[in-house]
Amino acid sequence: MFKNIGGKIKTLAKVLFIISVIVFALSAAVAAIYVGRMTAYSCGGYAYHSSSRNGVAGFFAGLGTFIVGAGVGFLISWIGSFFMYGLGQLIEDTEINRKTNQEILKKLQSAPEQPKAPEQPKAPEQPKAPEQPAGWVCAKCGTVNTDESNFCYNCGTRK
Ligand SMILES: [Zn+2]
Repeated sequence: MFKNIGGKIKTLAKVLFIISVIVFALSAAVAAIYVGRMTAYSCGGYAYHSSSRNGVAGFFAGLGTFIVGAGVGFLISWIGSFFMYGLGQLIEDTEINRKTNQEILKKLQSAPEQPKAPEQPKAPEQPKAPEQPAGWVCAKCGTVNTDESNFCYNCGTRK
């Protein structure tokens, strides 16, 4: 019921425009008949016989009134419909944008993830300088002995 509000407002604007033009045209016609009769009457003075001459003057006065009245009415209806139609268009565009955005989002979500740019390889860590063993390593058993001793304190092998 409330879907496509933008389109409905646009349709309503068109309908109101047409009704407005018709109402203005009818009003103009009524005014034209009145002006025409008055013109014919005043041209004829007291002796209103609707002579052909007065009738022609009245006809053109009425026609002029109708054209001006209907023309102005058309302009007012037309310009007045801008706002309503524009509002409808705006809502419609917004609805289209929302749908498009949702579709784009769906596509983006279903699309396989972009492979990440390979990380910059880290600069290899500077190998730490092997700590100087405090002392000497026994060739036979591998025990680290202090520099002071000349024999391995584990197996007695000479330095
Ligand atoms: Zn040893």
